[in-house]
Amino acid sequence: MSSNQNFVIIGAGHAGGRAAQAMRAAGFEGRIVLIGEEPYEPYERPPLSKELLATDQGLEKARLHERAWYEEQEIELLTGNAAVKLDTGGREVELADGARVTYHRLLLTTGARVRKLPVPGADLPGVHYLRNFDDTLAIRAALKPGARLVVIGGGFIGLECAASARGRGCEVSVLEMADRLMGRAVAPEIGHHFEALHRGRGVDVRLGVKILRIEGAGKVERVILEGADPLAADLVVVGIGILPNAELASDAGIAADNGITVDAFGRTSDKHVFAAGDVANQPSDFLGRRVRLESYQNAQDQAAAVARNMLGEAQTPYQDGLWVWSDQYDTNLQMLGQPDDYDALVFRGDPGAGAFSVFYMKGRKIVAVNTVNSGRDMGASKRLLASGRDFDPAQLADLAVKLIKLAKG
Ligand SMILES: Cc1cc2nc3c(=O)[nH]c(=O)nc-3n(C[C@H](O)[C@H](O)[C@H](O)COP(=O)(O)OP(=O)(O)OC[C@H]3O[C@@H](n4cnc5c(N)ncnc54)[C@H](O)[C@@H]3O)c2cc1C
Repeated sequence: MSSNQNFVIIGAGHAGGRAAQAMRAAGFEGRIVLIGEEPYEPYERPPLSKELLATDQGLEKARLHERAWYEEQEIELLTGNAAVKLDTGGREVELADGARVTYHRLLLTTGARVRKLPVPGADLPGVHYLRNFDDTLAIRAALKPGARLVVIGGGFIGLECAASARGRGCEVSVLEMADRLMGRAVAPEIGHHFEALHRGRGVDVRLGVKILRIEGAGKVERVILEGADPLAADLVVVGIGILPNAELASDAGIAADNGITVDAFGRTSDKHVFAAGDVANQPSDFLGRRVRLESYQNAQDQAAAVARNMLGEAQTPYQDGLWVWSDQYDTNLQMLGQPDDYDALVFRGDPGAGAFSVFYMKGRKIVAVNTVNSGRDMGASKRLLASGRDFDPAQLADLAVKLIKLAKG
């Protein structure tokens, strides 16, 4: 690819940062402009609800690279400046400060934003969301010992936040409207396991809850529930999902439906524009349908694959491995595959002992795997799942049978 080419990346998050790195690593010598609306160098988000909330560490824990690295690599990192308009005809991006940047090829890694809680009082000071480092700073400043935290949403982010807050000595309630925790991601049995974990750590977990409004004089003081007493709160953290930042693309006429529509190479409906990470809605051979993933691994690997595809004609299709994790207290949960269509669970190990794995079976095929404090099973599980073969549930459950042996067939 000629060195007078001009590549622009919008979204200086995890995917954007890794994409810029991959372009240089693949030998691209042209101009790279990496545009981000946050004031920081690209960083990884998983620590925001874990180490960075539980401790007072700084962003160095999560940054992909120091600023000097971008200078060395001749990557023009424009932070604190959002892209506000995309002109695909003129191949030009307009920035919030009025500057215009032209491109030969454009990569959109604009990620996602939090879904807002649609009840009165949700905009009161003291009601927080958790998506970026500034959110973490604001929340942790309020997590004083004895502070009453109400978490709305029993998904990963809310539960990690609850665990970090308990570590800081806060009183924590978790409110979930469904009848179980992490309902979109894991089987009820795993949700119940984590419910017991949080209750055991003193968290007031409430399921099937309907929130009517949030009240307070100038700041949050209580959460009003249907059919229950008001719940006093010094702060509220809402974690009820995210929405893809696809409007920059769709307003410019690029196809989008629950994220920016891309093919396996990261190409959008505009031949000069690509997308990757949380904002991209991509085909999955394993699932047999399109999927928009919200995962570290996808941000990291899809971005790098698409960056390489942008460089030339030699194309590598990307297929995500569908793997995510969550850390709550000292418990590590890893999830592989998609557990939405299974007919039996096979347990390997004793849930009562706190370390076990679960295979989600459809007939004799594995469709998903969870490991709970047994991450050592994950490497072999990835091979078992990818093989698409039939497996004997009794062998999967038998701790005397090594998973890696089964994977080798
Ligand atoms: C608190 C938290 C914990 C997480 N924990 C885990 C975990 O344990 N395991 C896991 O697998 N995944 C986890 N994730 C998910 C993972 O971090 C995301 O999937 C990943 O960050 C997605 O990367 P991305 O680059 O696509 O988007 P982002 O990281 O969201 O980056 C997008 C960037 O683009 C910027 N941007 C958006 N629009 C514009 C614009 N118009 N102009 C300029 N810049 C723009 C945004 O400000 C942002 O900086 C977690 C996420 C969060 C928030």
